[in-house]
Amino acid sequence: MRACGVCRTDLHIVEGELPPRRRAVVPGHQIVGEVVEGATALLPVGTRVGVSWIGGVDGTCWYCSHGAENLCDAPTFTGYSIDGGYAEYVLARSDFVFPLPSALDDLHTAPLLCAGIIGFRSLRVAGVQAKERVGLFGFGASAHLALPVLQAWDCSVYVSTRGAAHRALASSLGATWVGTEREKPPVPLDRAITFAPSGDVVLAALASLRKGGVVAVNAIHLDRMPEFDYDTLLWGERQIRSVTNMTRADANDFLRIAAEIRLVPEVTVFPLVRANEALLTLKNDAISGAAVIAP
Ligand SMILES: [Zn+2]
Ligand SMILES: [Zn+2]
Repeated sequence: MRACGVCRTDLHIVEGELPPRRRAVVPGHQIVGEVVEGATALLPVGTRVGVSWIGGVDGTCWYCSHGAENLCDAPTFTGYSIDGGYAEYVLARSDFVFPLPSALDDLHTAPLLCAGIIGFRSLRVAGVQAKERVGLFGFGASAHLALPVLQAWDCSVYVSTRGAAHRALASSLGATWVGTEREKPPVPLDRAITFAPSGDVVLAALASLRKGGVVAVNAIHLDRMPEFDYDTLLWGERQIRSVTNMTRADANDFLRIAAEIRLVPEVTVFPLVRANEALLTLKNDAISGAAVIAP
């Protein structure tokens, strides 16, 4: 392991908001590593590779055979159903590691491997087209990587988030509009992506859409989904869609785009022995950009 990003899902796992899959597990699923054993013809010893949340699929279920391996009936999740990257060494399936572009160093590549890929998948699930108005609700690790991709597609980006540090980061990255979680974007949005584990935020995003607009919910866990008024919020062919896991195609497509647009994440680095502190800082919304653990 050369670097491992810290994801909100890690927090949900260690705090028990996701049901435990085993008695004990090493979290971490945004791993930059180097092949030291089990080399293959495509992945010789020394190859720099990434390991992400999707640690494996069965390859045989209906979803796997219909191009939707993110929905596999029997998936393996890195740092959840198998041990992950808060460690010196990690075991990974050779067909679920991604050779990494050399443009970015280890610490700045790690946050791309879940936050980046899932953020990118969220844009796909929301159906973002070039030049659209897109809302990002919550502005942590994933959203701050989605913003430059949207800018590369000539979209205008509206960021609504609590926390002055998050708003400052959004402004510095050139968001079209930045407001608090209680402020509504000044124009109706074509698409919105929510990044906070909060049902209230999903409703705020829904209330910001034009007719026919889509909210993609980028959260593996929500506190709750509040009751809401169908007539004013969903009628008019608005849609709410969840974003679930990722495919290897999402990973490879995103890593290619990230290299093309020279995407450089904002990172805060913690040594491996301070992994708990990294998780606590994330929990307190006190990280600007992404937390990364280094050995
Ligand atoms: Zn993650
Ligand atoms: Zn499957």
